[in-house]
Amino acid sequence: MTYTTPAILIRRVDYGDYDLILSFLTRDRGKISVIAKSAKRSQKRFGGILELFNSLDIVVSQKRGKGLDLIKEASLIQPLFHIAADIRKTAYASYWAELTNLWLEEGRAQTEIYDLMAYVLSELDAGAVSAEVLSILFQMRFLSLSGLCPNLSHCSTCRIETDAAPCHWMNFDLSKGGVVCESCAPYGTDAHCLSRGTIKQLQWIDNNDIRKAARIRFSVQALKEGLQFLESFVPYHLGREPRSLKFLQQIRGRRPEPQRTEPQKTEPQNSRGQSPRRQKPEDRPED
Ligand SMILES: [Zn+2]
Repeated sequence: MTYTTPAILIRRVDYGDYDLILSFLTRDRGKISVIAKSAKRSQKRFGGILELFNSLDIVVSQKRGKGLDLIKEASLIQPLFHIAADIRKTAYASYWAELTNLWLEEGRAQTEIYDLMAYVLSELDAGAVSAEVLSILFQMRFLSLSGLCPNLSHCSTCRIETDAAPCHWMNFDLSKGGVVCESCAPYGTDAHCLSRGTIKQLQWIDNNDIRKAARIRFSVQALKEGLQFLESFVPYHLGREPRSLKFLQQIRGRRPEPQRTEPQKTEPQNSRGQSPRRQKPEDRPED
């Protein structure tokens, strides 16, 4: 039996001298892994379109019993030339793809995650929205769709609402999965400080129409806080640090943060704990 589905290529591994093993995020069947026979030996076999992050229509032949299903045909829906040509964009796309590959179960359709991935990749390629904003958008929405939305609305200990807390900053406690007010964590924790402004922007980007949300104007400080927080929260829940995240952080370390909006504000005095949390030793290479 064969089926056809729109699909985004999220992982590509050589298999022997001739073949490739490919993981796709498909619209109709969630994450799938298939084998592409002779795709490595012959570029002609699939016309050179089996490149990471491409949006394709694929035809898959289902195998009975053991073994991977076979990809029979593929046609390009959207080429993403600008991502492939830009190492920084490639680093962001690789992180989103690895996150999706590690997190999702095989064969369980999650159309909203497919749509989210297709949207951020398309915008990343087009370049009108900064990669940093897209990464915050992707991570916040991915967490929400996966049922792991961080609690930003009230203190995880005393339940006071963030808006009503008598402090400009909340600590984020990774183990509690939410913010903690200054009264409940006066000396800080192994946590990240988030200003109320950043918290509001993170909530906004999670709850509004995706096209509007992508055009939110982050201050440089909010961008930095949001990325540091999410890039700690995600590996904490994943139980490992994605390899592509280390690469992304190396790439970003060599380049200045984008100056899109307001000038840099002064750093908060209680900016303890803002460096990304070191991950546990069970982190291991995926391939
Ligand atoms: Zn509290």
